[in-house]
Amino acid sequence: MENYTYTAIDRFLRYVQIDTQSDPQSTSNPSTEKQKDLSRVLVQELQEMGITDAELDQWGYVYATIPANTDKTTVPTICFCSHVDTSPDVTGAGVKPIIHQHWNGADIVLPDDVSEVIRVTDHPDLQYQLGNDIITASGTTLLGADNKAGVAEIMDAANYLLMHPEIKHGRIRLLFTPDEEIGRGTEKVDIQKLGADFGYTIDGEALGTLEDETFSADAVKITIQG
Ligand SMILES: [Zn+2]
Repeated sequence: MENYTYTAIDRFLRYVQIDTQSDPQSTSNPSTEKQKDLSRVLVQELQEMGITDAELDQWGYVYATIPANTDKTTVPTICFCSHVDTSPDVTGAGVKPIIHQHWNGADIVLPDDVSEVIRVTDHPDLQYQLGNDIITASGTTLLGADNKAGVAEIMDAANYLLMHPEIKHGRIRLLFTPDEEIGRGTEKVDIQKLGADFGYTIDGEALGTLEDETFSADAVKITIQG
């Protein structure tokens, strides 16, 4: 679009360098305090966009509102949601994102551990990314695109809408949660306070994918005797 520099990549590169790993062994909310390190950055950036009610609560949830700018009176409130935490399985500390520009289809060798190779044969969806820029980690950490890609997309969308008041919309609530990776992302959400009629989670999938159902990602422990 004219007169707009997209901020999603810049935000993404910064967000992934903030360690927000969650911890399934923890009983606190959020499971790790360091998740708030990113959440505080989000609140500050939202306030800098002009979203005055952006706030981080004690449980590690960020709430913010893009006010309605339409004259219509019966527009539902929608929510865009994503999680700030990354998987407990691989370290999220010291992430060094790398942009592979105009990807030419070759296997991608990660420089900090050359045994880590992203192969087209293992990831057939990569064939649709020929010529695109691809962002990876450097080989020794997670990247954390799940779900800092979603966080960056929502932040850029908020920035875009605020800078383009000619795009009419109803009230939009933003929600950034901790602890999705350990199945506790909704544990302390204040649904009343969120006050949304409909919500969309922006998380991983290929371009254009919309999922309208989910599975229960809770764990189950089965003990069989005999
Ligand atoms: Zn996710």
